[in-house]
Amino acid sequence: MSSLNRANLVQRVFMALRRGGEGMSFIERLGLNAKADDHPVAEPDASDQKQLERTYDDALKEARKDAREARRLYWPEEFYPVDMLDVAQRAKLVVMIAAIEDPNFAGYYERGTDTIYVNALSTPQRLRTTMAHEFAHWFDAEVKGRPADSSERRVRRDCTTAGDAYADEFALCFLMPEDFVRKARREHATINFLADTFGVSAESVFNRLYSLRLVD
Ligand SMILES: [Zn+2]
Repeated sequence: MSSLNRANLVQRVFMALRRGGEGMSFIERLGLNAKADDHPVAEPDASDQKQLERTYDDALKEARKDAREARRLYWPEEFYPVDMLDVAQRAKLVVMIAAIEDPNFAGYYERGTDTIYVNALSTPQRLRTTMAHEFAHWFDAEVKGRPADSSERRVRRDCTTAGDAYADEFALCFLMPEDFVRKARREHATINFLADTFGVSAESVFNRLYSLRLVD
């Protein structure tokens, strides 16, 4: 049974409120208009382009490799959906779940504190994807020891940073392993079936299939 159930959520919201000083001041700092998963981002500087420590393509490659490694370490089980609260517990992460009345706020990873914040008002699917995304930031920083600088520069026009491209790809790979997805598609599994199986949105499944070149 998934531990993303109500009892667990309540317990964790309680924890977040008990440690509220910390969590709430963080949320105030972030501001209610903050973009989902906002990071302090350095302004892009065209003349700086050559100094980018990490390209978008490198980030994707690292994400795919790291997600496989993280699966072996924190979710070697072959059952789905992946329970991100179990994963967080195994990785000894503090998970702060609080209801935040801003549909754009999904989550945040606080560097150096092993803490991730997620919005309890998200759908279970979004909660899972967001936790996997923030877990990826943690893995990038703490397990791989990559500097924040390299993950917080904007590398594309839509302001996606290499770090966020990494975290998005890592999350998809972690929640939907390649072998399983390929086999399911050979057996004509639909996107909706896969979304149910992995406990993610149809859009996330589509993105995963796209990344594996299994859809056009
Ligand atoms: Zn992010």
